[in-house]
Amino acid sequence: MNLLYKSTRNAEETVTASQAILKGLAEDGGLFVPTEIPKLDVTMDELKGMSYQETAYSVMKQFLTDFTEEELKQCIDRAYDAKFDTEVIAPLVKVGDTYHLELFHGATIAFKDMALSILPHLLTTAAKKNNVTKEIVILTATSGDTGKAALAGFANVPGARIIVFYPKNGVSKVQELQMVTQKGDNTAVVAIHGNFDNAQSGVKALFEDKKLGKELADAGFQFSSANSINIGRLIPQVVYYVYAYAKLLENEEIAAGEEINVTVPTGNFGNILAAYYAKQMGVPIAKLICASNENKVLFDFFKTGKYDRNREFVLTSSPSMDILISSNLERLIYTIAGQDAQKNSELMAALKNDGIYEITPEMKRGLSDFEGGFSTEEETKETIGDTYRSTGYVMDTHTAVAAHVSRDYRDESKDDRKMLVASTASPYKFARSVMTAIDEKYDAMDEFALIDELEKVSGTAVPNAIEEIRNAQILHTRECDADKMKETVKSILGVEE
Ligand SMILES: *Cc1c(COP(=O)(O)O)cnc(C)c1O
Repeated sequence: MNLLYKSTRNAEETVTASQAILKGLAEDGGLFVPTEIPKLDVTMDELKGMSYQETAYSVMKQFLTDFTEEELKQCIDRAYDAKFDTEVIAPLVKVGDTYHLELFHGATIAFKDMALSILPHLLTTAAKKNNVTKEIVILTATSGDTGKAALAGFANVPGARIIVFYPKNGVSKVQELQMVTQKGDNTAVVAIHGNFDNAQSGVKALFEDKKLGKELADAGFQFSSANSINIGRLIPQVVYYVYAYAKLLENEEIAAGEEINVTVPTGNFGNILAAYYAKQMGVPIAKLICASNENKVLFDFFKTGKYDRNREFVLTSSPSMDILISSNLERLIYTIAGQDAQKNSELMAALKNDGIYEITPEMKRGLSDFEGGFSTEEETKETIGDTYRSTGYVMDTHTAVAAHVSRDYRDESKDDRKMLVASTASPYKFARSVMTAIDEKYDAMDEFALIDELEKVSGTAVPNAIEEIRNAQILHTRECDADKMKETVKSILGVEE
């Protein structure tokens, strides 16, 4: 079967998987979605015995049908290798009565590595397949973790350049150091005077700027995106939900066919959307529980059917989820509108113009697989401290948001299905918030002293990603105003008026 992709804002045009990956965003500003979600063509019994790489092939070949077996396997083998500090790639850890799927064992110790280790390979393969000769410029807005994971993935990749924008005061110390010390002649990192939504909207505007696209094309460049609006980010994320279910089965934690629930700490809605795709592929998942921090626009949306970004932006201890415009939600809106590109376009225009839209009662019924919850700063902190004291397990702030929400859900709903929590970052990445949640006394220490304390407390070794930045040189100092991103990009690429 040849699976094609459509824009969420245009019913007519279809593209192949490799074209969708190359473009990143559709020309009409919509996101590419598969015309249908394929079913798994292997049984859970077969999946049980598979390695992460084998599972990745079984899942991804169903979506990326214009890649050959050889191409796809090569991408997978180059991505999921010794960059990860464990052979299983995504370990399952039982913490109390909950299963944590640890997605932070890659090069930059956050879950973004799961997709961004493979995206550069998918993209360069797609470029070859489509006879693209221009240099690909990856433009990325980051709330902290995507940036470093994309830089690590694209550094020194021939035929590609990468430019990352991050909010100057909106990321953790470790996140910032990881980015500004990035090596590679093809990398650029820019701090913008604004928040993540400014960075993300700015990047989207650059993609939609036809005149800029033409100027760059004349200079031999073509934009693509490493953000989770790129379908090449989303599909590799479906893999670990299939893998986790098969491992629960293999370890006899669940019986064949038994339904589980999944809680995902959510920002841009990419990770949880991948879990929804896994469910549609045939993985027995009952509820998808969307966990927000105090920027709880998604919680309100699931409760009321109204998406309203007109509110104060809160800086929290889980900065990678400090987002008011969850761009991947558009893919779900399109789906629950019955793949109605017209209806979706209207809602997205309302979001852009007024910051608000409301779905129809019929669409709201399509959300029955989802539950929303949120965690306050205080609750996140308590969850880290309580879990440490009762189990010895140390989790990061994002994961703690999900752990809190999953506990609330269970207490309130009495739904006692087994719970999988997507564990999205290493506690080392957010050492200050994590250690002060365990004991306030740690607040007096500097960042690297805290990291050494965390090693003692958690009994897990300091990851390479942290050792690397201890004494690394700062290589990127560029800053810009949120409304000067276009000029900045042109200057970095040496394209002048
Ligand atoms: C990006 C990120 C999230 C949010 O994931 P989305 O796919 O954007 O919803 C959660 N936790 C961490 C640590 C992240 O880096």
